[in-house]
Amino acid sequence: MTPILAGTTIAAVMQRAPVEQLEARMLIGHVTQLTRVQLITQAERAFSDAEATQLNTLFQRRVAGEPMAYLLGEREFFGLTFKVDPAVLIPRPDTELLVELALQHLPQDGRVLDMGTGSGAIAIAIAHTRRDAQVTALDVSESALLVAQSNAQNNQVEVEFLRSDWFTALAEQVAEQQFDLIVSNPPYIVADDRHLSEGDLRFEPIDALTDHADGLSALRIISKQAADYLSDDGWLLMEHGYDQAEAVRDLLKQDGYTEVQSWRDLANIERVSGGKKSRA
Ligand code: GLN
Repeated sequence: MTPILAGTTIAAVMQRAPVEQLEARMLIGHVTQLTRVQLITQAERAFSDAEATQLNTLFQRRVAGEPMAYLLGEREFFGLTFKVDPAVLIPRPDTELLVELALQHLPQDGRVLDMGTGSGAIAIAIAHTRRDAQVTALDVSESALLVAQSNAQNNQVEVEFLRSDWFTALAEQVAEQQFDLIVSNPPYIVADDRHLSEGDLRFEPIDALTDHADGLSALRIISKQAADYLSDDGWLLMEHGYDQAEAVRDLLKQDGYTEVQSWRDLANIERVSGGKKSRA
């Protein structure tokens, strides 16, 4: 890859960019701080020394496979902008289904818990849409929580963040917290799934992607224990892999949930399963 030199125009760089055109445009926009329209109207604008250096690095990193979201430092989710870095999973459009369902199942002034919040995308999207909700989000990763906290601030929502390995921190609290809704997009990829060594996933936090086992262990823990923290008629909703819906419904039924069902994402894949806590 021949490096881009200072003085080269945007148009010339677009012509010989070593990445896809759309990606080149986004990276050039990031470096120059120009909008998509400005990139066209100012196509003859030349790169400065610093810009050329920065762009060369970004092109190189992209060619090496680094996800666009990490290079740009942000990703859109549910109409909001989220800061992302390699400490957190990149929010997926599929996960907007979980947010939609959460909004449907959350009662007025309800309390919701997001388990394994990562960038905070799910919790913050809920809090942003439903100002009446009381939102708690937990994660085991301190560095993820820092990203999530800054995302909550940037999107101007109140979320209570908690460092916790699944339910441990909640279990230690004196008064047991009750939630009207518990949601989670836990690590659910099977340990030896080849997708883990392909594409964006190679650069994402491995513990956010896989349980290093059969893909169901986090879903099992959450299903088993969530009922202890749900109010009567409270719902548990969990995202899972494309081939796990039946297994997750079985877990939920075994653990005593009622109205157990799955919902399909935009690709028509059963992507979220859930159930209602049955009254004791
Ligand atoms: N949906 C993600 C993927 O397949 C995985 C996210 C997760 O493990 N929670 O790329």
